[in-house]
Amino acid sequence: IESKLPATGVSIFTEMSQLANQYNAINLSQGFPEFDTPGPLKDYLKSYVQQGLNQYAPSIGMPQLLEQIRSLIEYHYAAQVSTSSITVTSGATEALWVAIQTLVRAGDEVIVFDPAYDSYEPAINLAGGSCIHIPLTKKDYSIDWQVVESRITQHTRAIIINSPHNPTGTLLSTDDLQQLTRLANKYDFYVISDEVYEFITFDQHQHESVLKYPDLFKRSFVVSSFGKTFHATGWKLGYCVAPEALSDEFRKIHQYVTFSSFTPAQLAVASMLENEPQHVLGLKSFYQQKRDLLVESLQGSRFQILPCLGTYFLLVDYSELSELSDKDFCYWLTKTVKVAAIPLSPFCENQSGSKIIRLCFAKNNDTIKEAAHRLCQLS
Ligand code: PMP
Ligand code: GLN
Repeated sequence: IESKLPATGVSIFTEMSQLANQYNAINLSQGFPEFDTPGPLKDYLKSYVQQGLNQYAPSIGMPQLLEQIRSLIEYHYAAQVSTSSITVTSGATEALWVAIQTLVRAGDEVIVFDPAYDSYEPAINLAGGSCIHIPLTKKDYSIDWQVVESRITQHTRAIIINSPHNPTGTLLSTDDLQQLTRLANKYDFYVISDEVYEFITFDQHQHESVLKYPDLFKRSFVVSSFGKTFHATGWKLGYCVAPEALSDEFRKIHQYVTFSSFTPAQLAVASMLENEPQHVLGLKSFYQQKRDLLVESLQGSRFQILPCLGTYFLLVDYSELSELSDKDFCYWLTKTVKVAAIPLSPFCENQSGSKIIRLCFAKNNDTIKEAAHRLCQLS
């Protein structure tokens, strides 16, 4: 069969996790928590399953969950959205996919910033569009809006932003969102805002959600994931928030992709949001402590540590240690040091040659310490 995605192989997350298992390495590659979901969340799930709430949810999502998402947005971003703007999806991956299918037509261009999360480009290509890659700046992984403006054409249909950013751990600022608003209104394109790490920011830094900017939100799809927020990546539960007219089109496609998502999980998450609000509020300090532990435990190593203001990923530069490419270095590290990490080059159109890898710190403290101990042995 002629491939519709000829340039695509197995994802780097799958590849590195498999290699980690094969070599019995500590897996700091694929981003998922090593620790369990909160106990009450599991109890709620069990109880809804036992109550027999095991049939299809409404395609748009369970009303209880839609209402809790509405109030979460109101609480965190002081933004009023109606539940008709919210659709529950099977993970952020589905939300991104459907938002892209809703917007992108044959010949359209979508701007992404490299390193870019791996699911954007295939979705754009399968919709008949093409991806315009703009590298984040070398200095501090920020967006150069002058460069962005110079790459906008009459075919530009959308820009995808991601903050807190995977893999660099950077955050977009108010100024970034204002620049984006100016360009989106001037050139009339849409925005897909991937905010799956919205509740994981550090050192008093605030997440600037598109939901806080009405002039931008009016042309945006905002995507999030309960996988990140509730340490439940395997539940594949997320959502998309968009103005009603955009949500209507989004929902048409969503109903034919998955129709609806796992009913008991929707109810369990709704109950958690309603009854255990401290979980979401505690995420920042929970992950900041893990970031700090990893950073401190790597002091004295020959890795250079890059700033991390959000997400559960830390970038480290290994240029003092090796001449290998980032992918080869990750293979070598997994096999010989027995720590698996993620190279950045698979997220970039042009290999910058940078010697930087990503470490996931959503791990138990002992795991973080042992991994850092192994990395500190390298000279
Ligand atoms: N976007 C980014 C930036 C991510 O890191 C992830 C999770 N790995 C996703 C989207 C997908 O989220 P989900 O697992 O809920 O589909
Ligand atoms: N988002 C996760 C990461 O960045 C991986 C998700 C996946 O394996 N598709 O590591």
